[in-house]
Amino acid sequence: MNIASRIAKIRASLPESVRLIAVSKQVPTCVMREAYAAGIRDFGESRIQEAEVKQAELQDLPDITWHLIGHLQTNKAQKALRLFQWIHSVDSLKLAQRLERLAQELQVSPQVCLQVKILSDPNKHGWSVPDLLADLEALDRCSQIKIKGLMTIPPLGLDESETLAVFKRTRALAEQIAQQNWSNLKMEQLSMGMSADYHLAVQAGATMVRLGTALFGERQA
Ligand SMILES: *Cc1c(COP(=O)(O)O)cnc(C)c1O
Repeated sequence: MNIASRIAKIRASLPESVRLIAVSKQVPTCVMREAYAAGIRDFGESRIQEAEVKQAELQDLPDITWHLIGHLQTNKAQKALRLFQWIHSVDSLKLAQRLERLAQELQVSPQVCLQVKILSDPNKHGWSVPDLLADLEALDRCSQIKIKGLMTIPPLGLDESETLAVFKRTRALAEQIAQQNWSNLKMEQLSMGMSADYHLAVQAGATMVRLGTALFGERQA
């Protein structure tokens, strides 16, 4: 199957309200152009350097929205703000506050998700649930960055029902936070679901799915 038909098939399987982020890490820009021609306007990248090169190569496609989905080191925060309109992987108060300060200086207002670990997972970045709840008050003071919701990645090795439970708990957490009526913290978005589990994420209420392999095929290890 070519990329256009994969995109069409997946798009048709998703509710219209779910935003499809095409994860293009390691995908060459000529292939990204095919995805663009097939209607994709949201691309997700995990590395700053790679995104910078690709954005230069794709300058003639000005209506792309760029999503950072990988861990962001604080020393690259400024560059990230120049390159990305969305940052899904805000994973600490320190990073949020750094982004807040730099966004004021640069006069930009990126949309961000808070990355949360519903189950403990030493291999992933993100807040534990209690740590996130404890940081909400400080996060709510960040008004230059637009906190829009939560992002999660379930640990590897879960079965379907365990994975679905992680997504449902993420949604419940977002609802719990939304009920606290913060001034700046919004909980409208749930960025969850990758190629292997997006059908479960959508079932649990995902508003954005991040798909690489399902659209572009296997990446090199
Ligand atoms: C690579 C990556 C994806 C896409 O993974 P696939 O399994 O190829 O769909 C989604 N989200 C994040 C954070 C990623 O790093």
